[in-house]
Parts: sequence; C-alpha cells; structure tokens
Amino acid sequence: MQKIRVKSTIVEIDGDEMTRIMWKMVKDQLLLPYLDMNLEYYDLQLKNRNATDDKVTLLAAEAIKKHGVGVKCATITPNKDRMKEYNLKQEWPSPNGTIRAALDGTVFRAPILVKNIPPAVTSWKKPIHIGRHAYGDVYKNCEFRVPEAGRAEITFTNMAGKELFRGTIQDFKGPGIIQGIHNTDKSISSFAKACFTYAYDQKLHLWFGAKDTISKTYDTQFRKIFEEEYQKNWKAKFEAAGLNYFFTLIDDAVARIMKAEGGMLWACKNYDGDVMSDMLGSAYGSLAMMTSVLVSPQGFYEFEASHGTVQKHYYRYLKGEKTSTNPMALIFAWTGCLKKRGELDQTPEVVEFARKLEDSALETVESGILTSDLMSVAVPDPKNRQVNTEEFIAEVAKKLQKKTV
Ligand code: NAP
Ligand code: MG
Repeated sequence: MQKIRVKSTIVEIDGDEMTRIMWKMVKDQLLLPYLDMNLEYYDLQLKNRNATDDKVTLLAAEAIKKHGVGVKCATITPNKDRMKEYNLKQEWPSPNGTIRAALDGTVFRAPILVKNIPPAVTSWKKPIHIGRHAYGDVYKNCEFRVPEAGRAEITFTNMAGKELFRGTIQDFKGPGIIQGIHNTDKSISSFAKACFTYAYDQKLHLWFGAKDTISKTYDTQFRKIFEEEYQKNWKAKFEAAGLNYFFTLIDDAVARIMKAEGGMLWACKNYDGDVMSDMLGSAYGSLAMMTSVLVSPQGFYEFEASHGTVQKHYYRYLKGEKTSTNPMALIFAWTGCLKKRGELDQTPEVVEFARKLEDSALETVESGILTSDLMSVAVPDPKNRQVNTEEFIAEVAKKLQKKTV
C-alpha cells in the first residue's frame, strides 16, 4: 500500500508516563503504517527537560512558530514529590504554561461526542466548547509568604523611573500571603479575536464571563476589550449568521451553562478555563473525551490531550499490570493536527485519512468496546465490554485498516 505523504513538517512533542506509552502505540499502529511524515521531534519527558535545563521546551515552542503545526503529549508539571522522584535540579515550570506564553495562544476545548455516552447534564444537546485564555493571571504570578505583621504594597514605575502609582494591598497584623498578577491589553485582545474567530468559524454563539462587579479595573478591562472587538469587527457578521455575543458575570455564566442546550463557545479567563474545562470533560463522560488545541494570533496550532499523564495507571503499567487507559484524546490530538496540516498544505488526502481515523475511534466506542473510564458512564448494553489499552487501540487499527484498503 502506498503511504500518504504529509507535505510539511509536523512538530512532535513527546511527554511522560502513561500518555508516553500510549503515544508510541498510537504512532506505531495508527499513523506510521499509513503516513509518510516529516516529524521534528522534541522530547519533553521530565528527565530530558531536567537534563537540558528546560531548554528543550523553548526549542519546541520555537519549532511550532517555525512550522506552524505541532502535536503534544501530556507532560509532568513537577511539584515537591516529583523533585524527589526524578532528582530534579529545580522545580521546572509547566511546559504547557511555557509554550502557551511563547505562542500567546488561546486554548479551545470541545467534547468528543458518541451516541452511547450521554452528557451528565441532561439539557446539553450540542457540544459546549471552551476557550481558555492561556496567558497571565495566576499562571504568571509573583507571590510571597508574609512572615509577620507589616504593610504589603503594590507599585508601578514607568520606563523613565517615575513611580506612577502605589497602593496598599493589606496592613498585616500577622503572617499571611500575597500575590501579584497581571495581564496585558495585547494578550486580552488576541484572546478576544481568537474567540470571535473560532466561534464564527464553528457557527457557535459566544459567551464570556468575568467578575467585573468585584474587579472593577482588572476584569472590567477584559469586558471592555471583548465589547470593543465585538462592536468593531463582529457585530454585523454575527447578526447575519444568527449568532450572538453574550457577556455575563462568571457565576451567572456557570449557572446558565447547567441549563443551556449547548452550541456555544464559552470564553473563560485562564483560571476559570482550567477549572471549567475539567468539569465539562467529566460531565461529557471522561477527561479523555475532550479535544484541545492552542491557537496563536499568528495562526500557529498546537494540538494536545487535555488530561494529564495518568500517573496512577502508569505505576500499574510499570508493575506489569494491564491498564485500561483511554487513548481517544491522544488520537484526536493527532487527527486535529493532521487535519490542520492537510488544510494548510492543501492536501485533502491527509484530511480524509484523519477523518477515517476519527471515525474508526468513534465507532470503536459506539460498538461498546470501552476503556475503564467509559464503562460506568456508557449506556448499559449487553454488548459493552471493558478492554485494556492495547486491545482498544488494536480494535481502532482493525477498523481503520478496513476503511483504508
Ligand atoms: P490525570 O493524568 O489527568 O489523571 C487523573 C485521573 O483521571 C486518572 O487517575 C484517571 O482516573 C483519570 N484519567 C485521566 N486521563 C485518563 C485516560 N486517558 N484514560 C482513563 N482515565 C483517565 O491527572 P493527574 O493524575 O492529576 O496528573 C498526573 C500528571 O499529569 C501530573 O504530573 C500533572 O502535572 C500532569 N498534567 C499534565 C497535563 C498536560 O500536560 N496537558 C495536564 C494535567 C496534568 P482513575 O485513576 O480513576 O482511573
Ligand atoms: Mg487543569
């Protein structure tokens, strides 16, 4: 069989633990037998980030800027336990955080819907997409432990060395904590543009929630920038397409989402998006049933799974036990990447292959062949059968083979 040629380079970013194991299986069984790809490989497993003083992460981000499209496996964000486990030189930052900051991108997530897994929220009939602002706020904070009583202040000095303002955060009567966070007009504006563009492309209403009643300067600036972007560039287009832009308080947005029917892009500030995307993922069945893509304002794309490295399963795997870990999100990271690469390269055969692979994966789940995470959420059916990771991938491979002869 003639392999399908993928014209331009794809940046491949490998990761850690169970997702690293599944990554190789997916590549070996579902991609490499069919595709002739030029992959530029970056190994972001923690061991290698430590060995390269995390330079490999920056190189990977630069490579995405150069080639335009990348695909990333889940990676460990080290904490104190990981410092010991991997004997690290330091607690390296989250690679996702580093790459998101380098690309100034917005992360869009959407559920992978299958017939036999109804959402936990019964009113949801259509997918709810989430757009997570991927820059700043608590993810790029400056924080301190306050050891004793005293005054915490915030100041700003301009480039000429002049202090423009100073404010008291708190007069502490005893120990506590403080944190400084920021965002930039430029980043909020690219976030807004990315969200309107994505919503319009995908024919989705756009919702945005923030807390501007409490945060009268910080969150109000987000609201203002969204409103300006809408009035200036999107109002006419949205109205013509029957779409609307809706701003509301974040808590009201959360309450309304639970009663909505779906079909919207929900734009979230960085932290809200982090938390809410996991809630949506789990309500739609499993964290492994979500797609995730980072889109930069320059049009660079990084596709990934939204779940972590599934550490608990990995430790079972290391002991030689069979695991039933779900590779759907990893498969869809690759198909998302291939579809975008094919679209940019104008190679419809690559897009078509990616669709066949997605169909094979969806049909596998819909035929009742399920990993552990889906067993308890799938509609009960005598044909449902729990399989391990290898068996699941083998079944997808079998279906894919039939579609590609
Ligand atoms: P996790 O890897 O997402 O796993 C949490 C739990 O969710 C698992 O124990 C498992 O539940 C279930 N789960 C997640 N993905 C699954 C899959 N594909 N198939 C079946 N079940 C799945 O989160 P974590 O354990 O909190 O984090 C582990 C590591 O991942 C951490 O070091 C963290 O830093 C990193 N992380 C990386 C990313 C990323 O790179 N995108 C994102 C988040 C976390 P059961 O054990 O009940 O089966
Ligand atoms: Mg999270």
